[in-house]
Amino acid sequence: MNDNLEPKLKDTSGPIAFQTEIKQLLNILVHSLYTKKEIFIRELLSNASDALTQMRYIQQTDHEILDPSQELEIRIEVDKEKGLLRISDTGIGMTSEELKTNLGTIAQSGARAFLEAAQGDDSNLVDVIGRFGVGFYSVFMAADWVKVTSRSYKSGEDAASWFATGADTFEIGSSDKEPRGTTIEVKLKEDTLEFADEYRLKEIIKKHSDYIPFPIYVNEDEEQTNRQNAIWRENPRSVEEEQYHEFYRQLTLELEQPLETIHFVADAPLMIYALMYLPAAPDRGMFTLREQDGLKLYARKILIEEYSKDLLPPYYRFIQGVVDAEDLPLNVSRESVQATALINRINKILTNQVTQKLKEMANKEPEAYLDFWSKFGQFIKEGVASKDTNGEDLSELLLFRTTTSPDQWSSLDDYLEHMKPGQEKIYYILGDDESSVSRSPHLDYFQTHCYEVLTLTDPVDSFMLLGLREYKEFSLQNVADSDLQLPDLLDDDEDGEKKEQPEPLSEDDINKLINRFQEVLGDKVTEVRMTNRLTNSVARLVDAKGSLGQEMQRVYRMMDKEYQIPKKILEINPGHPILQQICDLPEANDLVKTVIEQIFESALLIEGIHPDPASMIPRIQELMKTALDKD
Ligand code: ADP
Ligand code: MG
Repeated sequence: MNDNLEPKLKDTSGPIAFQTEIKQLLNILVHSLYTKKEIFIRELLSNASDALTQMRYIQQTDHEILDPSQELEIRIEVDKEKGLLRISDTGIGMTSEELKTNLGTIAQSGARAFLEAAQGDDSNLVDVIGRFGVGFYSVFMAADWVKVTSRSYKSGEDAASWFATGADTFEIGSSDKEPRGTTIEVKLKEDTLEFADEYRLKEIIKKHSDYIPFPIYVNEDEEQTNRQNAIWRENPRSVEEEQYHEFYRQLTLELEQPLETIHFVADAPLMIYALMYLPAAPDRGMFTLREQDGLKLYARKILIEEYSKDLLPPYYRFIQGVVDAEDLPLNVSRESVQATALINRINKILTNQVTQKLKEMANKEPEAYLDFWSKFGQFIKEGVASKDTNGEDLSELLLFRTTTSPDQWSSLDDYLEHMKPGQEKIYYILGDDESSVSRSPHLDYFQTHCYEVLTLTDPVDSFMLLGLREYKEFSLQNVADSDLQLPDLLDDDEDGEKKEQPEPLSEDDINKLINRFQEVLGDKVTEVRMTNRLTNSVARLVDAKGSLGQEMQRVYRMMDKEYQIPKKILEINPGHPILQQICDLPEANDLVKTVIEQIFESALLIEGIHPDPASMIPRIQELMKTALDKD
């Protein structure tokens, strides 16, 4: 007789209808186009593992059991030619009544929940089918028929068989199976024969079921296929650095060692085991196994999600690793309130672990932290900007360039240490690059009086500032703010010799000058006024009162290329020799107009908002010519 034909059951009861929701579920699964059908193997192994776990428990309490000395194990046989896959366990087994209720007739709220969540489209839901408590049926994505033969651990019970093709009914028959446990025989469909390939099968077991706590043997292989020992469940003190690195390599296939390992085991308030890694680089390597961000989530050593993105906030998405939660229900749907609340609590605990580790690194291993910062600083800034920080304060982790130590990284605590007596604010300047920032007129005052200013030149800095308004009671202050209150100078003389001041301009001269500027610039600026804030610079641009702050302007500009920077106020420095010389020239002089235009456009340039810098060239040539003509 041909093996492809459906095996006959003995003493069959005749067809029994599946419960309605299960019929619908089967209909979806049989026709599923889901590409990772391999997950049915994980589901069958997870069921075998559950049956073995229960058996282990029963062995400790009950002595009237069948085959008490039988090893607790899983054996898999494949026959590629016949397209057969057979999974046997020595777990608790099922009686014929249990086969009938567990695999088909009992009301299944999980099946209904799955159908509702899928709404006809199973594309990604199949991946988490186990959580709905209907994982067994996933086998029908790959099977022409399935035969389950089982013998209960209860002595005196007969073995029985269950048979189905994925249609609306199943059958129950008798069996002469001797040993305790369950054997699931799967006749693979033409297009799923890969699962009868020993090599492929072992690969799948390693990927999805490596940490099943019972040995899994494939065909005649005496060596178990799964690794079984979950390193993350071990006492952190007993694990060698080498083992951590080896596990990281197997998890990710990354060539470089991780920057840092975080192994965390807790039994209160939640039982969780977490092994997390800071990778060597923010981008996954070419040959990485990890196709997406997210941690690998297990519940009692059984993989329930390959890439769980809910266990850490988005800004920690670069972290790799494994989390195993004892209290996570395996068969609870993703949307369940209970599971969500639990995941949120785990998230909070893990986030805190990572943040603490980073703080520890920053304090105790500054070199290593600098390395981390140079690679992952962006993520920390993103975290500071995000409102949802899970109660964590990340600002301690930030590093900055500053005007007084431009070649080093300083933390906000370093900055506080350098503050001058009486200084109440943390000053910063925004710009596009270090070199233009260092020439900014906004720094005149602060440089003259030796105040340290943070230089923020990274595009994400403007976003970061939205979430960083103060640090340890000191508020942050943009030096370009026009209404900035300058610190009272306690003892200015200590700041070095006073520059020789030119004769100040008379009020009359200043007014004439302002008028002249206004005439030339017209509506390119909202106002022209004098300021005493500048020393080396001729002029600067500041935002009109009530207009959007510079940070938000930058954020808008980044999000919308069409965004127009609002017009600004031009502040001029009456003590600057250029302005004094303009006053000495006759009012009708053409050169004055050219110089004023150039002063304005230079100010635009230094702010990084000149729309067309090259357009200044003809004017600069004209000025050069005038200068040369003079001599
Ligand atoms: P779940 O595992 O979430 O309960 P499944 O659809 O995977 O849902 O399995 C349905 C039920 O079938 C299980 O709860 C269990 O009672 C029974 N079962 C499946 N496989 C086995 C097995 N290998 N040994 C014993 N019972 C099993
Ligand atoms: Mg299951």
